[in-house]
Amino acid sequence: MSDTDTRDPTSLRTPIVAVLGHVDHGKTSLLDKIRGSAVIEGEAGAITQHIGATAVPLDIISTIAGDLVDPDDFDLPGLLFIDTPGHHSFTTLRSRGGALADIAILVVDVNDGFQPQTLEALDILKRSETPFIVAANKIDTVPGWNPNEDSPINDTYESQSERVRQRLDESLYEIIGNLSDEGFSADLYWRVQNFQRNVGVVPVSAMTGEGVPDLLTVMMGLSQRYMKEEMEIDVAGPGVGTVLEVKEEKGFGTTIDTVLYDGTIRSDDQLVVGGQNEPIVTEVRALLQPRPLAEIRTESRFEKVDEVSAASGIKVAAPELADAMAGAPVRVVRNRDLEEVVAEVQAELADIAVDTAEEGVVVKADTLGSLEAMADALGDAEVPIVRAEVGDVAPRDVSVASTADDGKQKAILGFNVDVLDDADDRAEIEDVTIFTDEVIYQLIEEYEEYVEGIEKAQQ
Ligand code: GDP
Repeated sequence: MSDTDTRDPTSLRTPIVAVLGHVDHGKTSLLDKIRGSAVIEGEAGAITQHIGATAVPLDIISTIAGDLVDPDDFDLPGLLFIDTPGHHSFTTLRSRGGALADIAILVVDVNDGFQPQTLEALDILKRSETPFIVAANKIDTVPGWNPNEDSPINDTYESQSERVRQRLDESLYEIIGNLSDEGFSADLYWRVQNFQRNVGVVPVSAMTGEGVPDLLTVMMGLSQRYMKEEMEIDVAGPGVGTVLEVKEEKGFGTTIDTVLYDGTIRSDDQLVVGGQNEPIVTEVRALLQPRPLAEIRTESRFEKVDEVSAASGIKVAAPELADAMAGAPVRVVRNRDLEEVVAEVQAELADIAVDTAEEGVVVKADTLGSLEAMADALGDAEVPIVRAEVGDVAPRDVSVASTADDGKQKAILGFNVDVLDDADDRAEIEDVTIFTDEVIYQLIEEYEEYVEGIEKAQQ
């Protein structure tokens, strides 16, 4: 926010929670369980529908958590979980140069321990200084585990046999050991009293729901205690948000799924959105929310709304969005100076800009955050980058890669993106090699093996 801004913090918003972790460790199941518990516990209509996010209001958390959460002790309105789909789930979602998510849950399978994407997620949490809790998931699979849904997790733990506790202890120690290896300072992950130890690990089962009340309690409690000031927003002010995904939507053209973390967005607002080449200035055509399931017939899956306030997930339909990027800022102009808002968006994009060289490989990624993570990792591996962009691998990327003098650099590294058919065809003709993967370090490893192959052939 700039100095000239007439921001007037009047409300407390919902903390935004991201769920991260290695593939198959249970991120989707955990989100489903939280959503499912909320729906079961909630009165009809208590769960507000969002795009790309699920809001769980305080009273529902309190019902799920039983005696653990007394609504009178809280003034934050609940938790907003970002529903990042599948492999997109780890991403640095940005807000004003920081992390969009206020808090994160790092899901670790107790049987599988720390895996490549767990470490990548940790790296991202560390760089974005996002506080997090580890959800040690799948405790129901620990042999001999005896579920006791009535008691909070510590009691449940105590009631387990010595053998089971030992087994679980080993997993938890491994998790904790990995956290200390990573050089986390005490305040980077939240330390909570659990298992009579001072660590930020909550054992859960996304399948049976065991431990989920504890997890929600811990998240709510820590947010209330440590984050209240950061949650102050000017609820009526011009909206500020981040693009989650750019999507074509039948009848609406290109739309941006957006998480709004400050202010309000209205259906007649002018917007500035971060684009591939420059900030996009546009006007809202429609604000779209998912329609309740019962109302979906042949009509659109969405209903139009006049305005939404932070923190919310909303789909924005507007012209000129083709170049919008996941992870980029969204700003409502309203009664602010357009030039100033454009400058703000430009500054935020420049913050994330990747250093490129005259010669090097082409890098594509699904979001600005993952592009930045890729660029960092390639920098560590001393691989120069000629172009780095958000989006699928397109023919023009092949053209750029094909001009490299050095055969090793005739390569495109795509992280969490698709390769367009005509790009594949052109790559074959131009002798450009395209690598794609969903794990950064594997992607770089594949590229390094390819470079080794070329070097060997040259000897
Ligand atoms: P994601 O890739 O991290 O989103 O993982 P998913 O939520 O898709 O889960 C991967 C697999 O693990 C699925 O087959 C789930 O049913 C299973 N799973 C997830 N959580 C649990 C759990 O707590 N207990 C058990 N037994 N299985 C789980």
